[in-house]
Amino acid sequence: MDASPPIRFDNSYTLLPPRFYAEARPAHASEPRLFAFNHALAEELGLDANYLAAHGADVFSGNEQLPGAAMVAQVYAGHQFGHFVPRLGDGRAMLVGEVVDRKGNRRDIHLKGGGPTAWSRNGDGRAALGPVMREYIVSEAMHALGIPTTRALAAVTTGDTVYRETKLPGAVFTRVAASHIRVGTFQYFAARQDEEALRLLADHVIARHYPELEGEEDRYALMIEAVCRRQASLIAEWMRVGFIHGVMNTDNMAVSGETIDFGPCAFIDAFSFNKVFSSIDAHGRYAYANQPTIGQWNLVRFAEAVLPLLNTDMDKAVERANQAIKVFGDSFNDRWLEVLRAKIGIVTPGEGDFDLAQKLLKLMEDGRADFTRTFRALAASAVSPVADAGFAAEFIDREAAMAWLAEWRAYVDGDGIAPQDRAAAMRQVNPAFIPRNHRIEQAIVAAREEGDFSLFEALMRVLANPYEDQRDFARYAMPPMPDEEVARTFCGT
Ligand code: AMP
Ligand code: MG
Repeated sequence: MDASPPIRFDNSYTLLPPRFYAEARPAHASEPRLFAFNHALAEELGLDANYLAAHGADVFSGNEQLPGAAMVAQVYAGHQFGHFVPRLGDGRAMLVGEVVDRKGNRRDIHLKGGGPTAWSRNGDGRAALGPVMREYIVSEAMHALGIPTTRALAAVTTGDTVYRETKLPGAVFTRVAASHIRVGTFQYFAARQDEEALRLLADHVIARHYPELEGEEDRYALMIEAVCRRQASLIAEWMRVGFIHGVMNTDNMAVSGETIDFGPCAFIDAFSFNKVFSSIDAHGRYAYANQPTIGQWNLVRFAEAVLPLLNTDMDKAVERANQAIKVFGDSFNDRWLEVLRAKIGIVTPGEGDFDLAQKLLKLMEDGRADFTRTFRALAASAVSPVADAGFAAEFIDREAAMAWLAEWRAYVDGDGIAPQDRAAAMRQVNPAFIPRNHRIEQAIVAAREEGDFSLFEALMRVLANPYEDQRDFARYAMPPMPDEEVARTFCGT
């Protein structure tokens, strides 16, 4: 007899007081079908991957209760588009439980779309197939790009209908995260002046994500600084690959520093600083180039929430918080400059690096150049000027592009880096493949309308190696044709 359960849970969040969560039960799925299962991730988590591959439809729809599961919806608050909502919580998601993975890291396993919870408000707690596929594709693509993110473990269709503007097939997504604790989790308890809960939460976060701070007298302020550093680095990484999160509300910012909550997110095709995809972001609050500013805004809310833990003297607490928050701006500027240098192949830092890179971005915006293809083409130009015409072809104004290339070549020349080495380094930070919106959309339509998951599977295969040329898949590196372009993305709620 096999005595070991398919998932060996080791739950810590539910050791916190009951006011941190509410018990949750997944709704029954009438005809669950597993259409995606991440075998490699299951292995990494130390799960019984073979059992789960065979029983995944029941397990990942929530129909089969696993022994030792926590099954709770977590509570949080959040600023949504700047407006504070004192109680949000997991309205369509539940924490199944935690596992300690093969490397010894604690990870959450979470079901999204499994039915209503105590915090569903007027929502149905369900998810439709489209948004589930979208999160699956984009989160795994982010991981392959080397960017901290929640992961996709599995996805099932439920066999039930979800009602949005139209009837849609229902689905459940299984997400894995370092934790699901958000800036908004702190805000929830801060809004209730529940200092005891704040302290328990901060201690939990430090133990889980910042254990090096344990025992430090100033640990709560140092925690703010550590979160600032991780978020600064994360946002610089998003911008490296042209990613727009789209809904950076404080409840969608994880204190672990992982990308979380892929709703209306999208990758830029033709570059523009103020690009917005989300249908609900009318004022461009979460536009591409606004992400560091809004990241900092969110972290100020975080520092405010943690304030009571910093010092009993409020003036001193505020002073310490202000100091902690500065870490964000400094880290972001450092990280972004590093990203820009790497993207244009500068190996030896110099005074003019930022201006040279910024000038290129401006030209790309004016020239409607494709963000991904332009930097990839620049790597080819690093090898030989024979490739310059290909780079210039990405721009409306080719002469301006050629002029910038000449300036760039003169600037980087003579740093002693061999052309092939420069190009190879550039190709490691400038992907050939990103999850382009129109490709995601095509994969969703084929699955939803025809039950055909072959486009989804092809996309997943290409995106697993984004920095390799993969000539057989060259069409996936192409920008959308005018009739394929996806101008708007939706939360899918
Ligand atoms: P989001 O903007 O997707 O991060 O969601 C914001 C809030 O709305 C969270 O508290 C979600 O749990 C909740 N929510 C989103 N969609 C649903 C739904 N279909 N049913 C219940 N709650 C939902
Ligand atoms: Mg959310």
